[in-house]
Parts: sequence; structure tokens; C-alpha cells
Amino acid sequence: MKTLYAGAHVVTMDDAGTEFADGWLLVEGELLAGVGGGAPPAADSRVDLGGALVTPGLVNTHHHLYQTLTRARAQQADLFTWLRELYPVWARVDAEAEYAAARTGIAELALSGCTTVFDHHYVFPRGRTGLVEAEVQAAQEIGVRIVASRGSMDLGESDGGLPPDELVEDLDTVLAETERLAGELHQPGPGPRVQVAVAPCSPFSVTGKLMEESATLARRLGLPLHTHLAETIEEEDYCRELYGCTPVEYLERLGWLAEDVWCAHCVHLAPDDIRRFGATGTGVAHCPTSNLRLGAGIAPVRDLVDAGLRVGLGVDGSASNERSDLFLEVKQALLVARGRGGPDAMTARGALALGTRGGAAVLRRDDIGSLEPGKCADFAVWPVDGLELGGAVDLVAALVLSAPHRVERLLVGGEEVVRDGHLVRADEDEIARVHRREARRFAA
Ligand SMILES: [Zn+2]
Repeated sequence: MKTLYAGAHVVTMDDAGTEFADGWLLVEGELLAGVGGGAPPAADSRVDLGGALVTPGLVNTHHHLYQTLTRARAQQADLFTWLRELYPVWARVDAEAEYAAARTGIAELALSGCTTVFDHHYVFPRGRTGLVEAEVQAAQEIGVRIVASRGSMDLGESDGGLPPDELVEDLDTVLAETERLAGELHQPGPGPRVQVAVAPCSPFSVTGKLMEESATLARRLGLPLHTHLAETIEEEDYCRELYGCTPVEYLERLGWLAEDVWCAHCVHLAPDDIRRFGATGTGVAHCPTSNLRLGAGIAPVRDLVDAGLRVGLGVDGSASNERSDLFLEVKQALLVARGRGGPDAMTARGALALGTRGGAAVLRRDDIGSLEPGKCADFAVWPVDGLELGGAVDLVAALVLSAPHRVERLLVGGEEVVRDGHLVRADEDEIARVHRREARRFAA
């Protein structure tokens, strides 16, 4: 059964940056059987895209879905103040709230063109079960791919860490739970829809021992590794005081600069840090809106890309970026790069590459991120007949520069997840209604 999607401007994001102005995509099962321009091949059915723009599905490389429950808090706070205010509120999370939050965040992501969602969950109040499972269920129901992580915190306030003692776990529980979830949920591939990553939270909430043992476990099980790093100046001061080195030196000591690792933020990297990331193949999740929202600074993205690093984009949690709109992050990445390095620092296509193939590289996925035969049929169809694109001589640049947008159609593994700007398998109004109810438990 082959379905042809024709009559579109197709941006493949392949190595050569190929675009087809009169383009088509041929979908067979879960994969792309062909991509091209001009006269299309024969197919069993045909969908006319009416001149729309097609890009690869976006890949989100950093998020905390549960944070949709606690938006617009600690509005003028820096990271550490913000965290201290929110930890006790987050301690109320349970599987029901997590499910409602995940459905909300994932729905927002899907409607912004995202087909693969990474989530970093690290709040596990004692006795609450089923949190990661709830996220995976939400992703499967809405129809996107998910890389869910079993995060962790084991360095409480009384040991010099930032989180309250009641919110940290012991090392053995963390490792056993991570292995259990990997065994139950992680799909080896090809084209996996559910994967598990190992993701201790940050240098200021996790012991060095748990960082090391997490890496050992991940490498034994073949799982990717993720953590927060170098987000704020305060974090650097904290590391120097507690560990006598910079966050990057600390990570290197723990065996965490490696090609199976990617780190969120990396705002405060010195040139030598960037060189170390490049030499070790360590990846970066760039989260521009969250960094601006918390006043953390602006990551040196141009330098990271020029050093050959794997760089993807992340919306980050909705308590520090109240919007889970990944296409908006594409525009933000362009704007902050130019704000830091001038008008040549980032092109529209360069920013789009970060959100698509860059994200795939960060997650070490060669089956998504570009539109090429044999890859997963994950793509976003963007309308070009709205007010904001009128008069544009370059639709791709105009789409990026005029973001945000709601995707017209979204396919994941050949299946429609969004059609006519609405979720196919879930009801947006119902998701919002249930989420409002659940979020009230976090309001006081
Ligand atoms: Zn984060």
C-alpha cells in the first residue's frame, strides 16, 4: 500500500540540503519509499497538499512534561531560586497528573510539528509509581515517538545539594527502577516509537557516585545518557565550591564526556569546554526560550555548530518556557544566535536543521530528522496561505522568521497524527479540560 503526498515544497534536510519546489513524498507503511520533484510515481492513493511546505518532523531534545502543571511561577527568579520555589510543588506529582501534563505538552508539541519527544523526568516522590509509564501512554495515544528518561536526584539539601531531602531517592532504587523501565519500555528498533534514556538531573542535585553508576548502567544496557549542564553562572560557582572545578571538568572526571551523552543548555561553555565536547562527541540540547526566560544567558550556538558538535533544540519544561512549541524554538535559536553573533550567525535553514536533523543526531537516531528513502515517514505539512506568509519570496525562511505556526498535517511513521490543524487521535479541548482540573491540585 503506497500513498503519495504531492503538490508541496519539500525541504528534505538531507546532507546536500535538497529542496523540491514541485515535490512529492511516497509513503509505504511506516517508511518513506521515495522523495522527489516533478512527475510523481504511481501509488495506491494520492493526497494533494495544495502547495504547502513540507519539512521533516521536528525532534525535541529536552523537556519536562510534568511542568505544564506549574506554569508562570517564580516569574522573576533565577534558576536556583526558581527551583527552590518549585520543588515542593512538584512533590505533589502523581501518575494521574503526569498523564494529564504529558498529554498537554505532547499535544502542543505535535501541533508545532514535533514528531519525536524526548522527556527528562527526574521528580519521583516516594511511593508514587507509574510516572514514566503515564508519559509513554500519552505519547502512544496521541501518536508521536517518545524517548522517555528515568531521571534522578540523590543529593539533598542536608548533603549540600539543592533539592529538599524528601525529594531525593537512594542510588539503588534509582538504578533498579531505571533497569526495570528499560526492560519494559525500550524498543531496540528499527524505527522505535518508545525508547528509554538514563538522565540524572544535574551536578547540584545528583552525587558523583550516581552519575558514574548511571553511566555504567546505561552503557551496559545500550541506553543514551542525558543531564543538565552549565545552565547558569551560579551553577559554575557551585561546582567550583563543591568540586573544585568547572561543570565541564566535573563531567569529564565522571566519564560523562562521550558520544552517548548529550547535555541540556551548555550556556556557559568556555572555548576549551567546546573543544572538549567536540573531541569527545558530546551533544547539546539548546533551549533558547528557557534560557532567556530564566535570564540564564545565551548559549554560544554558532561556536558549538562550528566545532562540529551534535546540537539539537529543546523547548525545556513549561515552568521555564510556558509554551511547548518546538517550531518557535527554531526561530528563537536563529534570533539568539544573531543577537550574540550578528546577522550571519544563523540562517533560517541552519536553524531548521537544528530542530530536525540536529535533534536526530543528538538522540543518535539515523532513521529520523531528514526526508530520504528508507527513513521513517515523519513529516510536518505547513500551510502557506495564511496572513503571515503573504508576500514572502522564500517560503522556508518566511516560515521560520514568522513562527509560531500550527501545523496543518503531521505524520509519524506514515500515520496521521494531525489533520486540518487538529489532533486526529485525541481531543484537544478534552485534554485542556482535564489538565486544568489536575493543575488545580498544584495551585495553592
Ligand atoms: Zn531542563
